[in-house]
Amino acid sequence: MGTEAKKRIETLRDELRRHEYLYYVLDQPEISDAEYDALMRELKQLETGHPELASPDSPTQRVGGAPREGFVKVRHSSPMLSLDNALNEGELRDFDRRVRELLGGAEYRYVAELKMDGLSMAAHYRDGVFVQAITRGDGEVGEDVTENARTIRSLPLRVKDGPPLFEVRGEVILNRKAFERLNLERDEQGLKQFANPRNAAAGSLRILEPSVTASRRLDYYPYFLLVNGEPYCKTHWESLDTLQALGFKVNPKRRLCAGVEELVAFCQEWEAQREELPYEIDGVVAKVDSIAQQRALGWTAKAPRWAIAFKYPARQEATVVENIEVQVGRTGALTPVAHLKPVNVGGVTVSRATLHNEDEIARLGVEIGDTVIIERSGDVIPKVVRVKSPGADRRPFRMPETCPVCGGHVVREEGEAARRCINTNCPARLRESILHFASRGVMDIDGMGEALVDQLVAGKLVQSVADIYNFKREQLVDLEHMGRKSADKLLANIDASRREPLPRVICALGIRFVGERTAEILANTFGGLDKIRKADIEALQQAEEVGPKVAQSIVEFFGEERNLKLVERLREAGLQFEQEVRRKTGGALTGLTFVLTGTLPSMTREQATERIEAAGGKVTGSVSKKTSYVVAGAEAGSKLQKAKSLGVPVIDEVGLLRLLGE
Ligand SMILES: [Zn+2]
Repeated sequence: MGTEAKKRIETLRDELRRHEYLYYVLDQPEISDAEYDALMRELKQLETGHPELASPDSPTQRVGGAPREGFVKVRHSSPMLSLDNALNEGELRDFDRRVRELLGGAEYRYVAELKMDGLSMAAHYRDGVFVQAITRGDGEVGEDVTENARTIRSLPLRVKDGPPLFEVRGEVILNRKAFERLNLERDEQGLKQFANPRNAAAGSLRILEPSVTASRRLDYYPYFLLVNGEPYCKTHWESLDTLQALGFKVNPKRRLCAGVEELVAFCQEWEAQREELPYEIDGVVAKVDSIAQQRALGWTAKAPRWAIAFKYPARQEATVVENIEVQVGRTGALTPVAHLKPVNVGGVTVSRATLHNEDEIARLGVEIGDTVIIERSGDVIPKVVRVKSPGADRRPFRMPETCPVCGGHVVREEGEAARRCINTNCPARLRESILHFASRGVMDIDGMGEALVDQLVAGKLVQSVADIYNFKREQLVDLEHMGRKSADKLLANIDASRREPLPRVICALGIRFVGERTAEILANTFGGLDKIRKADIEALQQAEEVGPKVAQSIVEFFGEERNLKLVERLREAGLQFEQEVRRKTGGALTGLTFVLTGTLPSMTREQATERIEAAGGKVTGSVSKKTSYVVAGAEAGSKLQKAKSLGVPVIDEVGLLRLLGE
């Protein structure tokens, strides 16, 4: 049993490493997330049962260990340099001229790489195993973030064929999608959003709870391969190829440039395309390719003479606040928005920027007429960074005491930054509710855009979200920009939304603090909308990640007559109110697949099946490579043979009970 477990553990680790590489480095997964999770759970289970076989380079070690008290300072093997900047093409050419002169006519080449906007980190490997990660810090001394770095899936925990001791330096980043998801989640939880992906990456790597880092989906792109603090290869280009061959995620968007013209072209190409990249870049790094030439060029007091960072212009611009208006969201929250004199920021025309709430306005000290600095980061709404100069005839903005749309009562609850319109019939709230209901990732009703919803609300065609399920073709064709064809399409899309699964329906209701993720957790925990509706605050908190604030909000939602009416009408419309309760995650056997064979001493096969399923496991009829365990009793037959030939671990009833924790 011991050697079989050991064999299976090794097989699983190899498989998981391969899939991690395919998924996180090459972005070419071969198996589904669910299959990957199942393999991972099986490995965890085996490692728990065999603590003597634990290993720090096992893929299970990525989940993030216990919180820590603080970070230990560690000195780098050689300084982690910062580079000189070139802020325009002229400065880039000046840099090239210095290189050319210093190299005295020798031929040289540049390696151009995208300058990813994250934070630098060194990762150390001994005998092919990842052993330590250190943040850049001040360049001389950084912080030991080994446990957090371990959770970064694209950072290999083990490599083959590297030098016995080596160090990799690169950038920890958060891609745009992960950044937006993180901010959305924080917003749902009432937490402050991160200003940009770089801050989010830094905050996530330097957090004291590795499990939080694990949830943030950081990425790592290396660009230096060192041994004893010195470059390992003869050229920089070769070291990038070597890193890639070792299994690291090296950015493929790099180029070996024969001279400054090719380098300038590379910088210009990516400046034009930077918005299309899945991550943020703030420029291009150019390094002289030959290490011998790098040594010949040497260093100034603060930076190497053989490298430069070409910086793209900041996506900040100054413009005038022409007005401040208030928007009413679907929860009734009043959000002040600055209407700006249109300005081009990094290729996009910006005419509005969010001011979040009145506290933010006070913090910025912004008034109508002021010239402000605005910043755009990723795809998030531009924001006001600071006041550049107060306007000559500036006037302060006051949050309205009544709702600017319906004139209804506005309240600011204790501990909340936002004022809310509490009129549940407020047309602004209705408009936003419908847009939310129909949006992508919720009920996915294509064609239900702002222009249409405005007409629907103004024409009183909808007074409740549920009204959309009673639309008649003749009502729609009369609307502006709505032909017969698009009316039919819209009706078909509305009809199709009836099949959206329960989590989407829960999310569509627009309960405060209940976004996509929470909706999914609620659906999986309770299995039906009615069960969620009937649950009290305590029962709701049994669901993972549902705290008192969220639970309170759900109870309040279902406490309102109007919302209950909406729920009933959606039920009549035929929306999905039920789903199969997914087996409780976190059960001792979650993700494991069993095959039973032969007669067990104290349990019937039905009893064994029941107990396995109750603990989250699955029982299937035939043995395959995916089977986690075969449970064999007396007179086991061909299934036992098959298990042995496939190397699937075989256990008896005692073994099963042990897995069940008995
Ligand atoms: Zn209102």
